[in-house]
Amino acid sequence: MMMILLQSDENYTWLAPYGYAIVFAGILFFFFRAFEIWYANTYNRPLFRHYLVYKKLSKTQAKILSLEFSFYKLLSEKHKRQFRHRIAVFMAEKKFVGREGLEVTERMKVLIASVACMLSFGRKNFEYGLIEHILVYPDEFYSAANEAYHKGEFNPRGRALVLSWKDFEEGYRITDDKRNLGIHEFMHAMQLEAKQSRDTDSSRLMAQFQNILKKLTQTEVREKLEKTQFFRNYAFTNQYEFMAVLAEYFIESPKEFKSHFPEIYDHTQKLLNFRFAGY
Ligand SMILES: [Zn+2]
Repeated sequence: MMMILLQSDENYTWLAPYGYAIVFAGILFFFFRAFEIWYANTYNRPLFRHYLVYKKLSKTQAKILSLEFSFYKLLSEKHKRQFRHRIAVFMAEKKFVGREGLEVTERMKVLIASVACMLSFGRKNFEYGLIEHILVYPDEFYSAANEAYHKGEFNPRGRALVLSWKDFEEGYRITDDKRNLGIHEFMHAMQLEAKQSRDTDSSRLMAQFQNILKKLTQTEVREKLEKTQFFRNYAFTNQYEFMAVLAEYFIESPKEFKSHFPEIYDHTQKLLNFRFAGY
C-alpha cells in the first residue's frame, strides 16, 4: 500500500505547470482589476459595462418595451441588446407584489424594470442591491411612516420600493413635464447604495454629488436658482430630494436643464455616466 501511495504522489508532478498557470492567471486578474479601477477613477466611467452573456426577453416583453418605452427606441442596436439583458435580469431578481387587490401584469413589470435600468444604464452595477421587493399600489397609498398619502417611497429597512401605478405610469408616459416618479424613487435607492458601497459606480456618484453641492454654495448659482425657479421647490427639502429631483429633470428635460445650468448638468451626466440617446 505504501509503495502505491508514494508512487501516485510522484505522479502528481505533471500537475505543476497547471499550478503555475493558475498563479499566473491570478496575477493577471489582479492587474486587470487594478487597471479597471484606475481607468474608472481617471476617466470617470467604467472601463466596460457588460460581460458577453446576454439574458433574453420573451416576445411579449420585448414588444411592450419597443412599443411603450421611448428611450429604448433611441438606443443603438448594441445598447438595445444590453438594455433587454438588464431588464431580464432585473425582473428575475426582484419580487413584484401587488397591493390593494392590484394584479401586477407583465406590462407593469417590464415598464418598472425599464425605468430602473434606464437610470442605471451608464453604470456597470445596474441592479439596485438595496431593493428586493417592488410593491405596486393602484393609486396613492397611505404611509404609516409619516401618516400621509404617498405616490412612492423607498423603504431601505423593508428593502422595498413602493409605487402608485397611476403616478408611475404618468411619470414615464409624459416625457417632458420633468416629473417621473420611477426615476425619483430609484434615484433614492441608488444614492443610498452609493453611500454604503465602494464600487467604482458608487464612488463616482458620491464624488460628482459633492461637486454638485459645491456648485450650490456659489452665490451666482444660488441667485440663478432663485431667479429662474427652474427646479420645483420640493428639490430643496434636503440633499436626497435634491438629487432625486435633479435626476427627474435630467431624464425628462436635458436640453432645458443644460441651457440653464450647464455645470450642474455636466456633473449629473458624469454621476450617471449617461452618454447615449442624445444626452
Ligand atoms: Zn423623494
